[in-house]
Amino acid sequence: MIFQYTWQLILDKKKTATRRLIIPGEELLDNPRRLVVNGRTKWQVGRSYAIQPGRRKKSVGRVKITDIKKEPLGQMTVDDARAEGFATLGEFQQTWIQIHGHYNPDLPVWVITFVKEATPAEKAIARRFAQEKLLKQFVREQQEKLTAVGHELGDWQAKEDLKMEAQCMRCKGTVTVGVGEVNLIGYFPLMNPERCLADDPVQMEAANKEVQAALGRVYALLLSKARDK
Ligand SMILES: [Zn+2]
Repeated sequence: MIFQYTWQLILDKKKTATRRLIIPGEELLDNPRRLVVNGRTKWQVGRSYAIQPGRRKKSVGRVKITDIKKEPLGQMTVDDARAEGFATLGEFQQTWIQIHGHYNPDLPVWVITFVKEATPAEKAIARRFAQEKLLKQFVREQQEKLTAVGHELGDWQAKEDLKMEAQCMRCKGTVTVGVGEVNLIGYFPLMNPERCLADDPVQMEAANKEVQAALGRVYALLLSKARDK
């Protein structure tokens, strides 16, 4: 979509609507709502379009159309003028005259509303922020849950990016939480998430043996695979 005079306002999120002249051959269809020119879709609600400062000019960002409707110019409210990026209705009308030559309040126009889409950099920042938030939430949940069943967790340490680990001072079990492609919560080595085994040497011993046996099985498996090669 071309926004010759107002593209910067869109990037600044000060403009979320545009009024466009209705060109012969254009009609509005529903399901999905779209503006069609001689059978070809020009703009469609829900789709994203490049913001161009002019014809054949490079895109400076993207907008996603949220609605398209037909409305007489004169039906605009002050809020509508603000959504267009102007302080007052008068300011909008003056600019309309500068661009189109005259202002007729009865003229029906297309009213297209949109939201600015995040740039890839903004999306990356937002994703990172969400991941960090999730990591903190995992840590909080695990801290509460494991403390409630008798573990006494030391400080949480960052193991690698978006991965934290804490050890129980009593049973020496380890809890790991991680966020990323795969979100993980793990209790290894030797942490029973149901209860702290420090008060129960027999259970502790049994658990230890179980871990040793599991490690033994993994080792045996690796060994047999190595042999098969
Ligand atoms: Zn413990």
